Amino acid sequence: MSILVFCENIEGTFKKNTLEAITYGRKLAEQTQSPLAAVVNGSPDVEVLKTYGIGKAYLLEGSNTGDSASLAKGIAGVCSKVDASTVILTYNSTGKSIAGQLGILCGAGVVNSVNALPSSLEPFQVSQSVFAGKAEAVVEVPGEKKVLGLQSNSIKIEEAPVDTIDTEIVTSDGGSRVEVIRQDKISGGVPLPEAELVVSGGRGFKGPENWNILEDLAGVLGAATACSRPVSDSDWRPHHEHVGQTGITIRPNLYIAIGISGAIQHLGGVNNSKTIVVINKDPEAPFFKAADYGVVGDLFDVVPRLTEAVKKYKGA
Ligand SMILES: Cc1cc2nc3c(=O)[nH]c(=O)nc-3n(C[C@H](O)[C@H](O)[C@H](O)COP(=O)(O)OP(=O)(O)OC[C@H]3O[C@@H](n4cnc5c(N)ncnc54)[C@H](O)[C@@H]3O)c2cc1C
Repeated sequence: MSILVFCENIEGTFKKNTLEAITYGRKLAEQTQSPLAAVVNGSPDVEVLKTYGIGKAYLLEGSNTGDSASLAKGIAGVCSKVDASTVILTYNSTGKSIAGQLGILCGAGVVNSVNALPSSLEPFQVSQSVFAGKAEAVVEVPGEKKVLGLQSNSIKIEEAPVDTIDTEIVTSDGGSRVEVIRQDKISGGVPLPEAELVVSGGRGFKGPENWNILEDLAGVLGAATACSRPVSDSDWRPHHEHVGQTGITIRPNLYIAIGISGAIQHLGGVNNSKTIVVINKDPEAPFFKAADYGVVGDLFDVVPRLTEAVKKYKGA
């Protein structure tokens, strides 16, 4: 039986979380002594996948419509073709939308938010992040078939070059009941879900006219920008930047929270960040309890000074 990695083609490129999924799949294939293959939506240039150990890729034609049902069907078809024991997905919006459907189509046990390689192969046990990252559960999948949704930043990308990559075009039979009318893509900047550094702002900024203070800091650090929910609810920032229980969950190496109180619903989306820095004028702000480093001060004073200090440091 094979290990199959879904490599999401986003406008001809493969993002960091896909390279993590390949590394995960390759290590699992080594542990289980199984063949490794990739399934790709559309038919982009897949030469780059060789660098990470993919020697066989199935290119799903007709699956790049943005419709998760048709994508899940196409992947399920490849699963039976390669007799996949395990399908690795990234735990992003695409992965989340297809994991359950794939589980049903392949008769597989689905584990989402997987954050490590399996601790045991027989029986198959793997850990997942639960309760918005506040706890970890070890789950057992009793059947032979599994679908694993890998949380980003859970494994270090490793190169393992192979000489050639063999590709095969597979036609997704579609058969979906959904017609995608339009897709609006987010453009520019560092995509938040895969960012290593994130600078995030809350209501403490008082209004959208002050966001340049945050953007200046993010710019010098090369960081993505994020915000609390009230900020996106008030249209100061677009909805896709809102992190937390009802927004997106991120695990960057550095999360700088500025003028955010640290409500439980916000922490749920960010508390797995490796290092958290909090800047808040209220020393009693709950976020300080989750912080590795804290600065008690007025953001309008602290942040421009921090930006200047980073600029100076980078200049030196
Ligand atoms: C069901 C549910 C789901 C929710 N989901 C989410 C979610 O996914 N994400 C989310 O973020 N929230 C979510 N919320 C809302 C959450 O409970 C909080 O209300 C919200 O996170 C608060 O946003 P904030 O910290 O930006 O604003 P506030 O709570 O108003 O905090 C502003 C902070 O800025 C500080 N501040 C003010 N001025 C300055 C200054 N000049 N310098 C420095 N610091 C300053 C203040 O001391 C304060 O700590 C949810 C709520 C519910 C009920």
